[in-house]
Formats: sequence, C-alpha cells, structure tokens
Amino acid sequence: MSPLLEIAGIGKSFGAFRALSDISLAVEEGETLGLIGPNGAGKTTLFNVVTGFLRPDSGAVRFAGAPVDRLPPEKRAALGLVRTFQKAMVFPALSLRENLAMAARQRAGHGLRWLGARTCHAEADAKVERLLAESGLPRGGGERMADLSYGEQRIADLLMALALEPRLLLLDEPTAGLSQAEAERLLRIVRRHDSRTALVLIAHDIDIVFGHCDRIAVMHLGRLLRTGTPQAVRADAAVRAAYLGSLAD
Ligand code: ADP
Repeated sequence: MSPLLEIAGIGKSFGAFRALSDISLAVEEGETLGLIGPNGAGKTTLFNVVTGFLRPDSGAVRFAGAPVDRLPPEKRAALGLVRTFQKAMVFPALSLRENLAMAARQRAGHGLRWLGARTCHAEADAKVERLLAESGLPRGGGERMADLSYGEQRIADLLMALALEPRLLLLDEPTAGLSQAEAERLLRIVRRHDSRTALVLIAHDIDIVFGHCDRIAVMHLGRLLRTGTPQAVRADAAVRAAYLGSLAD
C-alpha cells in the first residue's frame, strides 16, 4: 500500500535563499512522525508546501494515493490533509462550542450533502459534543474563544482541527508554552479522539517528541538530515552535531 502522504523532491527558495532542498518524506497511515530541527531549518515552510499555502519550486506531494499539487488548502483539508486551524478562521466573540459547530457542519457538508442539511447538522453537533467531552475543558466549550486561557486556546486550536476529521493532522508547535502535563494532555486528546489519525508534529520539547513519536525526521538548513526511529535518531552523529548535541544519553 502506498503511504498516506508522499513528499518527493521538494525545493523552495525565497529570493536567493534556499529554504528547502530536495525534501523527500513519507508518512504512513496512523503513525506519529516528529519533525525537529533548529529554528530556521525549514519545518514550517515544509508544512506550508504540504498544505498548499506555499507553492514549491520543484517536487510533488501526493495524499491518499493522488497528487494534490494543484489543490488549494481548503480542498486538501476536505480530503483529510489538515493543519492546526488557522486563527483567522476562528470567531473570537463566539463560544468554542459555536466555533466547533461551524467547522464540523462545514466538514459534514462536504461528505454528507446527499443526506440533507438536518442530518448533517445533527451528526456534526454530536461530534462537537464528543470532542468537548474528550477535551476535558472545565467549562465545556461555553466560554467565548477570546476568554479562554492560553492552554485552553491551544486545546481549542486542536479541537477545531479535529472537527475537520483529518486523516493526517499537521501540528506546528502545538505544545509551545505549555507545561509538560498540559502538552501530554493535548497529545492524548488526539489519540483518544481517533487512534487512526496520522500526525506530523513539529515540537522543540525533546521529551514530548521522543516520548510520543513512532519516527522522527530531523531537518537542518533546509535539508532532511535523518529519518528514523527515536533510538536511531538519538544515536546519529550528524543529528547530535546539528541539533541534539547537548542531550544526555
Ligand atoms: P523552522 O520552522 O524550521 O523554524 P521556517 O520554515 O519557518 O523554519 O523558515 C526557514 C527559513 O525560511 C528561515 O530562514 C525563514 O526566515 C525563511 N522564510 C520562511 N518563510 C519566508 C518567506 N515567506 N519569505 C522569506 N523567507 C522566509
């Protein structure tokens, strides 16, 4: 079976600066892949290319067996290739529950149009209730988005993305600024919601990455330095030199 996501030979320059050089990487159904590397390595740029926010200079992206290079971000999301929800698409004056309902109804509209709007909405609303229950947020989603605490906002971002029923979810530093316990909780929400969702996780917290990822890809200066199991990556001399040098064994 072909991988869920296949990235082949991606290159991207900004003017004379080469941000991505010949990146090839595959993500399998259901796996959690950590994407690590120093600031400026090209991790977010790669996410932007994969999700369709940036057009690469070279290379190709396939998702679920089909090319997606010509599709805009929203069409890729409709196929299940989703990144943490864009803040611009959230309504701060509405509650988390209302925001989630809009995202879920929009998603249901793609897949279940033939069943009629009422069925779509009922299913979408049930999904929202399940997401809110799984999240363990103390006020159950009734709070205005703008009034959520920092940690709750990170969870809200994640729930908004999960409402789109991703097959592959790209998370760009979802745990930045969270305590270890909050970060662990956030990742547990994803797995509890659907253990089959594949994840690509950009994070700087080495304990989180090495503790939760099946494989790890290391980027450095726009190149993919190494991809492998956490043990193999941790032991790799080039990775240590570029990024993990200060890690104890
Ligand atoms: P990372 O996510 O690994 O920290 P980024 O992908 O954000 O790295 O950035 C990689 C490099 O590309 C950085 O040097 C950054 O300044 C540069 N870069 C990213 N986006 C742009 C852009 N739109 N225009 C010019 N340079 C950019």
